[in-house]
Amino acid sequence: MELIADFDLTRENTLGLKSAARLATRITHVDALSALLDEADVRGMPFRILGGGSNVVLSETVEALVGLMRIEGRRLSGQTETHNLVTAGAGENWHDFVAWTVEQGIPGLENLAGIPGTVGAAPVQNIGAYGVQLSDVFHELSAFDTQTRTIATFDAEACGFAYRQSRFKAEPGRHVILSVTLALPRIWTPTTAYAGLERFSVGDDPADVMARVLSLRGSKLPDWRRLGNAGSFFHNPVVSGEEAAKLADAPHYPQPDGSVKLSAGWLIEQCGLKGERLGPVGTFDGHALVLVNHGGATSRDVARFSALVRERVKARFGVDLVQEPIEL
Ligand SMILES: Cc1cc2nc3c(=O)[nH]c(=O)nc-3n(C[C@H](O)[C@H](O)[C@H](O)COP(=O)(O)OP(=O)(O)OC[C@H]3O[C@@H](n4cnc5c(N)ncnc54)[C@H](O)[C@@H]3O)c2cc1C
Repeated sequence: MELIADFDLTRENTLGLKSAARLATRITHVDALSALLDEADVRGMPFRILGGGSNVVLSETVEALVGLMRIEGRRLSGQTETHNLVTAGAGENWHDFVAWTVEQGIPGLENLAGIPGTVGAAPVQNIGAYGVQLSDVFHELSAFDTQTRTIATFDAEACGFAYRQSRFKAEPGRHVILSVTLALPRIWTPTTAYAGLERFSVGDDPADVMARVLSLRGSKLPDWRRLGNAGSFFHNPVVSGEEAAKLADAPHYPQPDGSVKLSAGWLIEQCGLKGERLGPVGTFDGHALVLVNHGGATSRDVARFSALVRERVKARFGVDLVQEPIEL
């Protein structure tokens, strides 16, 4: 286990924020974890996990021992009459894993193609895109509990999945996810409800659906390698039917419990903030929900611009926006 002091994280986060960890190491095996926790305790530092850095706002100095998740491996781990079970190590790249399943003739994840980050972080915010979320295909995961220092298996119920939420997001730092197993139906039906995917049906090639998803994503979101970003920066707010009625002009997405989901991007755009910037941080001119780093930004620049967006939306619509990326 090699511990590196003042480890540069600027290239380890898709927003490209200038950042360094007080101490960091790469985790390639679960066996390293107990010793790392001891090390963090001795130094009086919290222990934190970083995957692909695509859903975090990293401070200039992360005052922690940061474990960069690098546990590898992916396999067909089982079959039932109805499902294929596929398992991947937490450090595997999520998109590569999706592409691998499609190549192996095990479809079911193609709508989630192209989401940056690692397999281990996918359950943390129950990733979702194009009408599918992780919880729809989830079987179980294995995680190291940093309090009891034991490994436990969590089924979907134990994960407490909700919209972009899970117990792992609610209890940051408690569990280190080691591997994730998904159950993909052996009889494939494409999920086509999302605009742009309607033309697909049962006889089609899952690889074509994946290619279409990637092309739709490419047309909407900036490439983080060229323009640093963390995808959607705010959750779409969910408000009561009464509150929604006061915002008659806003697009409404009614939920089964009577509440209404609003489009955070629409609210921001109506405040005239699409393409606006404050110093090096602004909203993407093609999509107001995406905050971008025009170069050299730090977490303080992000916080300033994010506060401006939240204030304007609150003043105009009375709606509180909640940030999606986690601060580390
Ligand atoms: C261009 C772009 C597009 C995106 N599109 C989508 C999208 O369509 N849908 C969507 O849901 N998200 C999207 N995201 C957000 C992001 O890709 C996902 O949330 C992804 O799962 C984050 O993975 P990561 O490995 O980068 O996590 P990180 O950013 O490294 O970490 C996120 C959080 O998870 C924790 N964590 C990471 N790994 C582990 C682990 N092994 N065990 C325990 N905790 C862990 C970290 O401590 C941190 O709190 C997008 C991001 C970008 C930049």
